[in-house]
Amino acid sequence: MADDIILSTRGLGRDFKGFTAVGEVDLKVKRGTIHALIGPNGAGKTTCFNLLTKFLQPSRGSIVYNGRDITNMKPADVARLGLVRSFQISAVFGHLTVLENVRIALQRKRGDSFDFWRSERVLDQLNGDAMNLIEQVGLANFRNHTAVELSYGRKRALEIATTLALDPEMMLLDEPMAGMGHEDVDRNSDLIRRAAKNRTILMVEHNLSVVASLSDTITVLARGNVLAEGNYETVSKDPRVVEAYIGA
Ligand code: ADP
Repeated sequence: MADDIILSTRGLGRDFKGFTAVGEVDLKVKRGTIHALIGPNGAGKTTCFNLLTKFLQPSRGSIVYNGRDITNMKPADVARLGLVRSFQISAVFGHLTVLENVRIALQRKRGDSFDFWRSERVLDQLNGDAMNLIEQVGLANFRNHTAVELSYGRKRALEIATTLALDPEMMLLDEPMAGMGHEDVDRNSDLIRRAAKNRTILMVEHNLSVVASLSDTITVLARGNVLAEGNYETVSKDPRVVEAYIGA
């Protein structure tokens, strides 16, 4: 059923000064699944991700989200439709606390004016909702820490919390486990699993054991094109995939 597909691309590609970073990618992401985009270095994962979130304009092809052609839309408009990318917020809101960061994200979602939320009742409600999210991502004990004080893994958890505050229908995660130790990886894997309960997730991720344990479907890119697709069992046994990784 076509409605099963929340996000799809057809012939999506991007060149940089004559160099083809992404060739012609056909991608279909099923609603309610965790879908991973993997591939050796230089395969075009980041470029593809930036095309999907509209941070880069494609050189060719189209992107359809929930039946709407979003190929020429701005990132903010795409986010309003429910397709939201998780951001590295530490650089921007690093000196605000965990609670403040999540509160700001919630306000953004509600479009509240600053005057409006100054009323005590509204502020209480906002704090309560923010704390719910903070608990969900396991940061309750860190609510008054500034983002810069958090460990790398907890920063990413905070980023996921601020993304969840927007209650997106689909979340795009760019290497959610990059640079993390085992403990953070385990904690954030659980977090992503929980976040996926009522939404779709597409992630670019290098850590193959995370990909294996979290993903329903995996698309393997190599040299800007789709090399293989399927569950981990299938793609990890595909000789073309093995060769692409070894030859990379
Ligand atoms: P991956 O994320 O899979 O490692 P990228 O999408 O970052 O791959 O890059 C794919 C290819 O496109 C690489 O060869 C890279 O050097 C090239 N590339 C990416 N972005 C640019 C850019 N802005 N200008 C020129 N070449 C780029």
